[in-house]
Amino acid sequence: MPQAGSRRELLLIATGGTISQVRTEPGGESRPGLSAADLLARTTIETGHLHCLDLPYPDGVISSGAELLRLARAIERAAKEGVDGVVVTHGTDALEEVAYGIDEMLSGTVPIVFTGAMRPSWAADYDGIQNLENAVRVASYLLPEYGTLVTLHGHIFEAWSVYKSDTVALDAFTARRGAPSGRVNGQRIELGWQPTRWNRLGRQPQAMSYSVPILTLGVGDDAALLKLVGERAERSIDGLVVASMGAGSIPPTALVQIRRLADTGLPVVCCSSAPSGPTAAGQYYPGAYDELMAAGIRIENHLSPRKARLRLMLSLGLDIPYQPFAG
Ligand code: ASP
Repeated sequence: MPQAGSRRELLLIATGGTISQVRTEPGGESRPGLSAADLLARTTIETGHLHCLDLPYPDGVISSGAELLRLARAIERAAKEGVDGVVVTHGTDALEEVAYGIDEMLSGTVPIVFTGAMRPSWAADYDGIQNLENAVRVASYLLPEYGTLVTLHGHIFEAWSVYKSDTVALDAFTARRGAPSGRVNGQRIELGWQPTRWNRLGRQPQAMSYSVPILTLGVGDDAALLKLVGERAERSIDGLVVASMGAGSIPPTALVQIRRLADTGLPVVCCSSAPSGPTAAGQYYPGAYDELMAAGIRIENHLSPRKARLRLMLSLGLDIPYQPFAG
């Protein structure tokens, strides 16, 4: 079991989400109600070494790059002040993106572990407390070199690879195929991999541009929205992520529109809309990738479209060209 030994000082940051949902009466409205301290009080964890911080999103869900940067700064500040690890509770819909964004900016500083819940606190099968206990265990023992991790339902994932693969199941989270995953087994943490030196960005931008749409392509798509964007004299978006079909198929009409936009200097990243596996850049059908790459379009083979979008937004904020995520 790779471990760094039990740490004394951990910070628990609660941002909201289902893990914090309460309701006042049966059948009544569910709303965020549990603070970090409330969550902790429900666990069996000896809490003397745990500090609490509530950082709820004003709209209930994360809605801007500024909110991601606010969370990053809070974690960075805590690490500078000497905490030995950070646990973040988060809504599960955006968890994979926020954990990955934090991984890009802060991994290696202290262990950072995200968790959430698939059931609210009043449900008989509320999973929040078990998930939180596991997250505290993982943050207490693992080395920061493992990067930002996510634990739900007893599984442990790397932030870059994890995704919500089911909207209701308790074991809703999955690693991309080929990416490692571990387990929390009672008091034991089972990780079958060594830390990977991904080319993370490793710093935070002052600000993040958020106008980076994802265009998920389907059969015969004419990318009409891109045409509209291209026709506007003033550029209304800051970048574009193209999620191609399977290993990289892009309908011919869409390809023309994408190329046109890329030719105007718009940063464009192309990845697959399939949940796992690289694109087939270099060996695909004539024209596809050659044309894209010749137009300056970057091919991303590791990240999902949502994560490629975040990496592009962070890169734009740092004023650097998009480099594909690689180990
Ligand atoms: N159902 C989501 C959750 O797990 C809602 C959200 O992501 O805020 O918290």
